[in-house]
Amino acid sequence: MVARKKFVYLCTNAIRLEASLDKFKPSSYLTFSVHLDGLEAEHDHAVDRKGIFDVAVRAIKAAKARGFRVTTNTTIFDGAEPARVQEFFDFVTTLGTDGMMISPGYRYEKAPDQDHFLAREQTKALFREIFAPWRAGNKKAWNFNHNPLFIDFLVGEKDYECTPWGMPSYSLFGWQKPCYLLGEGYYDTYAELIEKTDWSQYGRKSGNPKCTDCMVHCGYEPTAAEDSMRPQNMLRSLATVFSKS
Ligand code: SF4
Repeated sequence: MVARKKFVYLCTNAIRLEASLDKFKPSSYLTFSVHLDGLEAEHDHAVDRKGIFDVAVRAIKAAKARGFRVTTNTTIFDGAEPARVQEFFDFVTTLGTDGMMISPGYRYEKAPDQDHFLAREQTKALFREIFAPWRAGNKKAWNFNHNPLFIDFLVGEKDYECTPWGMPSYSLFGWQKPCYLLGEGYYDTYAELIEKTDWSQYGRKSGNPKCTDCMVHCGYEPTAAEDSMRPQNMLRSLATVFSKS
């Protein structure tokens, strides 16, 4: 895929990353996207295994030292303390990673811990608080791997509809219907996913209760990306790109 110049974000919990680095060559097309749900206490709690935060941080440092692109991906759950999340962003910034990806947790019918997933208004209030110092210009070093319009959406300044086909998920089972959050089965081919899925049944407007409170990255960042191509938004998106280069 790298040889074909496709951008690959390889999501990993990083448990085997350090030991596996020899299998890869650094490339601007390859990024390790390391799962980190917060500082040590929060991350080890989220993955229910002590010591995994340290393993992941070691792997990030090793990958960066060998010239790889590394981002983090973080799910923010209900009950997250804004000050701790801000501390976490400060910490990740010291690791010299190539960007932080964040997403609110999904209110998922199969999730065992329903109380800790975020409803929409709670999500916006929490993200407003978390981003406040950054949006005020006091945390300029925080580097998010997001379109700025997605951040506007998270804090409630944009109202987007989901683009459920925007980030399709493929695994050993096949192409997941319709997004990776919903366990509705799999298609063998991408063409079947696109053609056979009744897309009108997904997203908030559809009335599908599974989508009602969802603000998750995989459905809404594609919408923000599309919106960023409108002439009135292009300057803002370009400014973000050039501020990172
Ligand atoms: S709103 Fe979109 S991303 Fe969220 S569950 Fe529904 S289809 Fe998936």
